[in-house]
Amino acid sequence: MATRRDYYEVLGVPRDASVEDIKKAYRKLALKYHPDRNPGDKDAEEKFKELGHAYEVLCDPQKRATYDQFGPEAFERGGVGVPPGWGGFHDPRDIFREVVESFGGGLGASIFDELFGGVERRRGGPTEGDDLRYDLEISFEDAVFGAEKEIAVERLDHCATCRGSGAAPGSKRNQCPMCRGRGHVTRSLGIIRVSQDCPRCNGEGETVEKLCPTCRGRGLVRVTSRIKLRLPAGIETGMRMRSAGHGNAGPQGGPPGDLYVVVHVQPHDVFVRRGDDLHCDVPITFAVAALGGQVDVPTINGEAKLTIPPGTQSGTVFRLRGKGVPNVEGHGRGDQHVRVVVEVPTRLNAEQRKKLQEFAALCNEDSQPMIKSFLDKAKKWFGK
Ligand SMILES: [Zn+2]
Ligand SMILES: [Zn+2]
Repeated sequence: MATRRDYYEVLGVPRDASVEDIKKAYRKLALKYHPDRNPGDKDAEEKFKELGHAYEVLCDPQKRATYDQFGPEAFERGGVGVPPGWGGFHDPRDIFREVVESFGGGLGASIFDELFGGVERRRGGPTEGDDLRYDLEISFEDAVFGAEKEIAVERLDHCATCRGSGAAPGSKRNQCPMCRGRGHVTRSLGIIRVSQDCPRCNGEGETVEKLCPTCRGRGLVRVTSRIKLRLPAGIETGMRMRSAGHGNAGPQGGPPGDLYVVVHVQPHDVFVRRGDDLHCDVPITFAVAALGGQVDVPTINGEAKLTIPPGTQSGTVFRLRGKGVPNVEGHGRGDQHVRVVVEVPTRLNAEQRKKLQEFAALCNEDSQPMIKSFLDKAKKWFGK
């Protein structure tokens, strides 16, 4: 993918621009570079698409924050944050409609469809419902071991009263008087003539005698669906799961979109996760570090014994093989890395102080080789 220009630059707005400013800038530029006004101009078309990307991100506070933090890579494949090409967050059609509306209409949906995928909207036919996104926060343990969750998702479903038709039960359907059943009307805008869906019948070619009282003719109603999810062991922040068919129902009885569940894992008090590996710090006494010994260390499966060899320095990392997180794709398990931190004793009582002083008097180059080697290297700086 070619390097993208900075989204703020694309829209010509400062980084602290308000949403209103961003919308204004987008409308102005989108009309200027609209392919309909620049027929055959590939540069304008590219610009128009670029504008769409920039606007889609910057007008959404969440995406904008992600962009400010991570840059455009966040919206490309494999990036952090919001996955690219995600339908339903912001249908580019909406951007276009806004542009159309703010200039009093005239540019119809057909132009739009040519730009975004070249799909000629089927006249009044069923269309697929929007995809939905649900952000799910889960505990560290649920991410490690997997879990079953039930979530409540607000979505559009077919109206049960009219079975999605929008017509009151028993109501007749008549030919639309505005488009005489053709489903589209032709409008002129200066020299441009465009065909667009008939606004009276929404392109269906027919109108119903009496609208369904439940959904007021929309054919869809807002419902809360409870959906069970099985989270695989090893799932991580930013991963998304698709729940097929649990997006919005499609207009006119069309198939439903999908539901995408984006996982956010809460941090843990002890462990930090990097990939499938876990990292933790374990404090040990100065005596254990010098003499060696066994210490209890926490693992996600309970406590384990770690043998500390004599003369272990603070910061030494020990690896517990296979004590990490199960790989989400089933490729084994990560390791746990235990970093020991030697705690220097504080608030010594008289006896401890005395013994330590006796011990200090016995220390020499053999017992403190690091200090000896450092002093040798540093001598020239001390001028000796
Ligand atoms: Zn209905
Ligand atoms: Zn009509």
